[in-house]
Amino acid sequence: MRPALLNPLFAPVTSLQGVGPKQDKLFRYLLDREQTPRLVDLLLHLPSSVIDRRARPTIRDAVPGTVVTLEVTVDRHRPSPPGRSKAPHVVYASDNTGDVMLTYFRAQPGYVEKLLPVGEKRYVSGTAQMFDGTLQIVHPDRVVDETGLAKLPQIDAVYPLTEGLAIGSIRRAMVQALTKLPDLPEWISPEVLQRCSFPSIGEALHRVHEPQELTDILPQEKFWSRLAFDELFAGQLALALVRAQLRRPAGIRNAGNGKLRSKIIDAFPYALTASQQEAAKAIADDLSKPIRMLRLLQGDVGSGKTVVALLAATAVAEAGKQSALMAPTEILARQHLKTIMPLAEAAGLNVAILTGREKGKERKDILARLEAGEIDLIVGTHALIQDDVIFRSLALAIVDEQHRFGVRERLALTEKGEAVDVLVLSATPIPRTLVLTYFGDMDISELREKPAGRQPIDTRAVPKSRIAETVDAIGRAIDSGKRVYWICPLVEETESEGIEHLTNATKRFETLQKRFGSRVGLVHGQMKGTDKDDVMAQFAAGDIQLLVATTVVEVGVDVPQATVMVIENAERFGLAQLHQLRGRIGRGSEASTCILLYHEPLNETATARLKVIRETNDGFRIAEEDLRLRGEGEVLGTRQSGLPGYKIARPEIHGQLIAQARDEALRVMQDNPRLTGERGEALRCLLYLYERDEALPLIGAG
Ligand code: ADP
Ligand code: MG
Repeated sequence: MRPALLNPLFAPVTSLQGVGPKQDKLFRYLLDREQTPRLVDLLLHLPSSVIDRRARPTIRDAVPGTVVTLEVTVDRHRPSPPGRSKAPHVVYASDNTGDVMLTYFRAQPGYVEKLLPVGEKRYVSGTAQMFDGTLQIVHPDRVVDETGLAKLPQIDAVYPLTEGLAIGSIRRAMVQALTKLPDLPEWISPEVLQRCSFPSIGEALHRVHEPQELTDILPQEKFWSRLAFDELFAGQLALALVRAQLRRPAGIRNAGNGKLRSKIIDAFPYALTASQQEAAKAIADDLSKPIRMLRLLQGDVGSGKTVVALLAATAVAEAGKQSALMAPTEILARQHLKTIMPLAEAAGLNVAILTGREKGKERKDILARLEAGEIDLIVGTHALIQDDVIFRSLALAIVDEQHRFGVRERLALTEKGEAVDVLVLSATPIPRTLVLTYFGDMDISELREKPAGRQPIDTRAVPKSRIAETVDAIGRAIDSGKRVYWICPLVEETESEGIEHLTNATKRFETLQKRFGSRVGLVHGQMKGTDKDDVMAQFAAGDIQLLVATTVVEVGVDVPQATVMVIENAERFGLAQLHQLRGRIGRGSEASTCILLYHEPLNETATARLKVIRETNDGFRIAEEDLRLRGEGEVLGTRQSGLPGYKIARPEIHGQLIAQARDEALRVMQDNPRLTGERGEALRCLLYLYERDEALPLIGAG
């Protein structure tokens, strides 16, 4: 149960004055929430910059282009002439050094007269400009009288905005929300508080929203850093709680004698790379120890994770137990099955698949065999975590591309057995410092080398104005027997401005088909599973040579004979995604080519992205660059990347806080794993505030 102390912060923003149903929608959008945001969501929306209102020059000394606060007397009004509502309402005011025009466009009748009564003294704050030799302020941000001046913030926070929501509305809501802030207990240990010179959370929130110094809102300063630490700490603590829950009861060992594994290795047509061998050994060691495995197998696309995963499952089968491999999409699950099947058959391992497509009697049969222990390894999608999927002895859960799954889904699979070992496969290379943030205290195996014989990929950027040449080149490629992917962005064509140039995969398919006939195929996410498979199978067999696809081929799909890829509107894709996509080629022994078709003009970030992707094929380097390029506005963990969200902590600024937050979480787990007593209560508050309370039911009430 949420500590009652927090209730005021979980009130909806619509409970604030001036936030009605219309603002509700805007605030949802601003704060990226599906439901009406709560005050806590608002308070954790931090400013992006400040306006300094401390300059108090006379009119004569006001510097155009700067923000000034002037003390003026109102002389006269010149309202918009009747019938010419586009002409501004101008107020003439002065001090004893000169005149200033205060200009209002589309003002409500009477509003300006009330705000600036003739003959009265007012303090007016805004950006000064010169207009026809006279000082002017268009729409002053603030107009106050003597009493108002005392309350006028010297420095105003500025927030990232959303269309239709004025900065003033956000500020007014924020000021109210701050008054609702209860006196929160301290959850950070005194040592860390002191070492990092952190203020209390209350002070941190007040100072970022009501800055007293220009630097108060900087992410690297102590106020923001305190909030970033809290966010990281909450994340680490939640992970630690989950992990503690996953300890294996002493004595269980989940690896056999290696006999089946050597059969798999014999049946595998290639020699394992050194890092595949190392990873397989580390996993087998973990499995045979009486503690629970929590290991991340990280390897760039095409590095050969599947066979390592299969070896892990085989070790478990040798010990007479079952494994499950869960992939985020059906295509991926089937892809795994395709790699695994021939090897498993050679070793006498029983493998089955379970996705949304297996239904009725077929599904019933699979479930019965699974429960009877007749299946050693089941490959599948989310379908694996449904309630009626029961294992006889699940000992190993392998989760592919796990950042697409939430904590709940990960837990759901491991709960289907006792003290289940966990192996996570990730093709998204994550810089070391970040692994901690996403996966907590996990062991890591890396597949750094590509299997031998891989050819480098020649990557080129081509403006879309030269699409005709590109199509000609593709024609020559398929005439000479090559297989080609043509990737289109996911977005459907819409009326709205700006994205008209995006090509719908279906449209592109139609134009290419007109030219190349039945050699062209189409695969996209809206197609039925079996239809997708059919098309993929035809492409693998070479019956289709040019496959138009959306990003459904992004991960895992494996057709080694494909050697050319065109990525249309490449500027729309993120770096990681481009790298993932490109990883679909360059898998065989033939040289490959990737063409990035971009729509002009390119903005700066897109230019930089395309440059990086042309220059390197090293997934780790690309991940670092990605982080650097996204550093600015877009913090890791946005919807687009699908990684678990961190809104306040910025890896490039708060990187060194990650390890400290982890240590702090580990100390808590040592001293107070059930979060009891006063500190425990404080820590529970922390988990609720940062929405990491998912793990709390695991340990019960404090
Ligand atoms: P990913 O790490 O992207 O999941 P996969 O496991 O799908 O990579 O492997 C990609 C391709 O490389 C597959 O066709 C696989 O059979 C092949 N492969 C895996 N290991 C090796 C190896 N040691 N030598 C040659 N090819 C390999
Ligand atoms: Mg794979």
